[in-house]
Amino acid sequence: MKPASRLVLDCAGTKMKYLSALQGMTLEQIRSVIEIMQQSSDAYLFILDLTADTYMLSEKATKRFPFHSIVIENCTETLKSVVYTSDYEMVAADLEKCRSGEKDSHELEYRWLDRMNRVVWISCKGTVVSGAEGHRLLIGAVSELGTKAKADNITGLRREARFRLNMESTLRDHPESVRYLMRIGIDNFKEINEKEGVEAGDEVLRELADCMIKTVDESVDIYRLVADEFMIVDTGKGRKREPRAVYRQIQETIAAMARNKEYSRFYTVSAGVLEEDFAGRTVEELMRFTEFALNEAKRNGRNQMIMFDRAAYEVYLERLDIRKSLRQDVSHDFRGFEVYYQPIVSAEDYRLIGAEALLRWKNEKFGSVSPALFIPILEESGLIIPVGQYVLWEAAKICKKWKQYIPEFHVNVNLSYVQLYKSDMMRDVERCIQEVGIDPESLVLELTESGYIETNDRIKELFKDLKSRNIDLALDDFGTGYSNMRYLKEIDAKTVKIDRTFVVQALRNEYDFNIISHIIDMVHSLGSAVCMEGIEEKEELSKMMATKPDMIQGYYFGKPTPAGQFEKDYLQATGSL
Ligand code: C2E
Ligand code: MG
Ligand code: MG
Repeated sequence: MKPASRLVLDCAGTKMKYLSALQGMTLEQIRSVIEIMQQSSDAYLFILDLTADTYMLSEKATKRFPFHSIVIENCTETLKSVVYTSDYEMVAADLEKCRSGEKDSHELEYRWLDRMNRVVWISCKGTVVSGAEGHRLLIGAVSELGTKAKADNITGLRREARFRLNMESTLRDHPESVRYLMRIGIDNFKEINEKEGVEAGDEVLRELADCMIKTVDESVDIYRLVADEFMIVDTGKGRKREPRAVYRQIQETIAAMARNKEYSRFYTVSAGVLEEDFAGRTVEELMRFTEFALNEAKRNGRNQMIMFDRAAYEVYLERLDIRKSLRQDVSHDFRGFEVYYQPIVSAEDYRLIGAEALLRWKNEKFGSVSPALFIPILEESGLIIPVGQYVLWEAAKICKKWKQYIPEFHVNVNLSYVQLYKSDMMRDVERCIQEVGIDPESLVLELTESGYIETNDRIKELFKDLKSRNIDLALDDFGTGYSNMRYLKEIDAKTVKIDRTFVVQALRNEYDFNIISHIIDMVHSLGSAVCMEGIEEKEELSKMMATKPDMIQGYYFGKPTPAGQFEKDYLQATGSL
């Protein structure tokens, strides 16, 4: 047994009366005391005799970390192999201050290496007391930050809780020092976990963490946030580097690692960067802004870096606000929504044969909002499903009424792909036809060409069912997408609606005019009719008539108007335009 004098204790010193119980104890007895106390703590307890360079720690610590015994004679040397290399100097300097009397306490967060050589963030806290023979003793505890959600033992990085604490003090004390924040996310991380297993996911996280550590210099902080996101904080201590250069280097390092592993696994990362005046900012704001920028990078197609843009963020916030109002209005029995109708005339004699139902939305806060803005928000939020039903019902009811004026009258209703993919369209249409009591031939469903993604079996089945029920489909906005004839065949459209942008081009130059003429011929040869949209002026009409459309819709014949107005202007008056 080693003599107790190796830890030189003194009960006479004023600071350490509580140590009196230890005086005269053998090292074995002191060890027993530590072990007893250890049972009631998650932290690793220790006594470090700074003067004798002797370290005594609990047995629990020796199991987790590469200490060869519970009493270490040559503490400074041993710590070199336990403390993460680049943190060692900082730790040694602080201990030296405690030893020399410059400091009376030690409180640092740094990294140790565990027995598997993995990085573990720890917090070491201790108080210096005087021992016998002028020895200075540091008595304290080491706790793992990972257990307090402040560090992550998969990547060896500190976690969000620590990022928040550190950022709070930085923003308070010297916000001007922060150069930028870069939030990094692994693209399609969920897929890696699902397809290759959680172990593979962990490996990717570790690999990326290593890669970021290699890329940035020591003065730059890296934290692991939620699952697959990291935050790099340039706190302005090291050499200045552009965030884009840092991001590129991370990308290149990941690519090089994939190459070395013969592409057994390949992944990419996206980044959102916040680089601005940080004074007055809160941590919450930093989290929100960087999250927004990262999401923008992902929305834009991933594997790229996006700088936070305040104007884009404002637009995003406004959209959120609009979405909230839309939700409220939908749940209040479609408050503020109204269906307008725009005449569709026969190109043969310009007589009224139908109308397109066009949704309008007016809100107390936002006034009249353009469909170009609110329809995509309805789609993103799924609200287009109930709202689409509302439009369908309204349009069917009015069509039934207007057929009294014009028996062959039909109404066109725009369908969103969200309705197609995420709701039971056939059931809704069937119910509507039955409950309203309208013949299916009077209903035309418009699908845009540009929204087309894929026609899976279920959708093909739906098109067939609609066809068998005599409900016609129209291919809307033709000319804004790929003008794909194959799609025309796939949805078996009875009508193709040529978009105004295409018409405008044709009016401007001969080449486009010829293209439109040929397209119309082709559509005719495939057995579909053509409706030309967006005819505003008499001259436009005369010129475009040469392309031989079957129907015309445009301001020249009438703008979209509320149902009452439409009935008054076009139906009660003459029954034709
Ligand atoms: P769309 O289906 O192509 O509807 C035609 C659009 O062109 C309408 O815009 C109409 O007002 C406009 N328009 C008609 N004639 C002219 C013209 O001569 N000149 C010009 N410059 N424009 C003309 P609106 O009402 O703003 O609707 C925009 C789009 O919003 C619609 O394009 C449609 O894709 C969508 N939409 C409207 N209502 C609904 C709806 O109930 N459901 C769904 N899913 N989408 C809808
Ligand atoms: Mg339409
Ligand atoms: Mg259109």
